[in-house]
Amino acid sequence: MQQQTLAEAVQCTGIGLHSGKPVSLRLVPAPPNSGICFVRMDLPGHPQIPARAELVTSVMRATTLSSGDATVYTIEHLLSALHMLGVDNCRVEMDAPEPPVLDGSAKEFAELILRAGRLQQQAERNEVRLQEAITVRDADRFITILPYDGLRVSFTSVNPHPLLGIQYIDFELDEETFLREIAPARTIGFLHEVEALQKKGLGLGGSLENVVVYSDDAVLTPLRYPDELVRHKVLDILGDIFLAGPVRGHIIAVKSSHALNTALARQIAGRAR
Ligand SMILES: [Zn+2]
Repeated sequence: MQQQTLAEAVQCTGIGLHSGKPVSLRLVPAPPNSGICFVRMDLPGHPQIPARAELVTSVMRATTLSSGDATVYTIEHLLSALHMLGVDNCRVEMDAPEPPVLDGSAKEFAELILRAGRLQQQAERNEVRLQEAITVRDADRFITILPYDGLRVSFTSVNPHPLLGIQYIDFELDEETFLREIAPARTIGFLHEVEALQKKGLGLGGSLENVVVYSDDAVLTPLRYPDELVRHKVLDILGDIFLAGPVRGHIIAVKSSHALNTALARQIAGRAR
């Protein structure tokens, strides 16, 4: 497989999910072997933050990368779309630390990439293939990746909410399956958490339009899938794991979140080197 970048630059605007701040994001073609690199256009010297697992500095509610004093966060939905649409090299210019939330899923990022078109490059893709299983655990949560000729994710979500409970899915992922089954699944949130989150300065850009909101006994946003929650968990994994590069393997996860996903990405990146 050849590496790919975008055929031309594309742009979108919106507000950040957690910051609530307006942001303009531009995806720009990049040379072979340059990877995915965020560029903070609003900071002096336009600092660059490569999308690499060792640069993860926080996983509270979203994945955060830092390089020097520059930070970007909530990057996992964009990374998920870039990963699954086979974009190896791209410069991601932003004039704020957080990409636009758009509809809360990866759907609009995927559409943006498809609109730009993809261009094959004169370099082999550096697919990450494993020789052995790697597992990361934390109490009753775990994520493991097994050697596998393809990309497959099996996820069990366990949530105490009466309308959620246990959700399980297992997908063999390619571009088509991703676009149809995973990319449109949105972030979920709970009404009882909103106030506490916003006191911490989180979720300020969230609304019923870009978050599937659950009250104590109802869902306030019309669902796109009955099991949208667990599909979004898979979307997040596909973004977080891309911090180790384009991965081949079978990922099995129970109650995994950004902390475990990015810890696994770090271990994969460490072994691959
Ligand atoms: Zn997410």
